[in-house]
Amino acid sequence: MRKRIIVLGSTGSIGRAALDVAAALKEQVSLVGLAARQGWQLLAEQAQRFGVPVVAIADERHYDHLKRSCPSGTRVLAGGEGLVELVNTAEVDLALSAIVGAAGLPATLAAVGRGIDVGLANKESLVVAGALIMPLVREHGSTLIPVDSEHSAVFQALMSGRPREVRRIYLTASGGPFRTWSRERMERATVEQALQHPTWSMGPKITIDSATMMNKALEIIEATHLFGVSPDQVEVLVHPESIVHSMVEFRDGSLVAQLSAPDMRTPIQYAMTYPQRMPGIAARLEWSQARRLHFEPPDPERFPALRLGYEAARRGGTSGAVLNAANEAAVERFRAGTIPFGQIIRLSERVLRRHRCVDEPTLAQLMEADAWARAEVDACTRG
Ligand code: NAD
Ligand code: MG
Repeated sequence: MRKRIIVLGSTGSIGRAALDVAAALKEQVSLVGLAARQGWQLLAEQAQRFGVPVVAIADERHYDHLKRSCPSGTRVLAGGEGLVELVNTAEVDLALSAIVGAAGLPATLAAVGRGIDVGLANKESLVVAGALIMPLVREHGSTLIPVDSEHSAVFQALMSGRPREVRRIYLTASGGPFRTWSRERMERATVEQALQHPTWSMGPKITIDSATMMNKALEIIEATHLFGVSPDQVEVLVHPESIVHSMVEFRDGSLVAQLSAPDMRTPIQYAMTYPQRMPGIAARLEWSQARRLHFEPPDPERFPALRLGYEAARRGGTSGAVLNAANEAAVERFRAGTIPFGQIIRLSERVLRRHRCVDEPTLAQLMEADAWARAEVDACTRG
């Protein structure tokens, strides 16, 4: 039987790559639901192309357009509730969570709450609410299969040993477009420069997060939740070629890594076909020519975001939600041209410092912390 999949965030960079993978795996998977925020034309085209029975659009203003453009039998839902309804009613085996930002949390929570397996690209849901999501995963018996390339690599490498045999996890990082830049030069970096990623082609928010290395900070927090390790067991290693996607060090000193070309279709497909592996459309590594792989420690002076990631991971409670929301709000302002590049991390740090962390928060307290952090960024940048 084909695996039934819904793609949340189907119009984005991960979503579109997932649909390409699904098109190539017609015998293995069928798409039974799609959701996005705004791009109704593309969403309608996708529904048509794959004969998808239900689609949801978060921005309700586009409901009528979408409804008119979809094939007549397609059910069309709208609004945040529409997205959750899609997750709650579809007959589905796997939800690919590929919405960007904290906005992806409600759908991720709904999927996990139903015991549906989740292919998790939306790292922000774990950063914000990992302490709520992971117990639900265990309680409802779903499997969380990471799509983030580093965490997919760790997930695969962990199969070489037992949890208590793990000494350390090395998350690799490309270092982004400013890996070799001075702090002064970075301060004045333009949006165009920050969007020029050397190895990956991704959506704008994560691309800017890669330039500040906040992406790696969020991934440290993501790893602690996914793999039940302490922040001290997670290390970041800069690896500009993005070939070694991450490594696990076991207590006997063995390191197990996963390598592949920098192509997100590899971890996306792995999440879609797990626990099987299939031939696919992702780029392959060619070893016919000599190839050099480089590794270097990250520079905490030029990339202070990493420190914030460790801090929030150690502190727990509402601090992940606050760091994430402050960063999201700051990145929006940088993209709009209202703050310089260097201000993204300074603002995130300031908001995290001012936050009074709540331990063991409820979902409502996490949402409150998220809103508070966005309001703080607003207050700091107004006028
Ligand atoms: P993107 O900006 O290209 O796409 C985002 C998608 O989310 C779009 O379909 C958009 O319509 C949808 N969306 C945004 N806000 C929404 C809302 N409020 N409700 C419903 N849908 C909404 O982003 P992306 O690069 O594809 O990244 C998606 C997620 O995957 C992020 O969490 C990112 O960190 C993670 N990720 C991406 C990559 C990558 O290569 N792009 C790699 C690793 C992890
Ligand atoms: Mg990653």
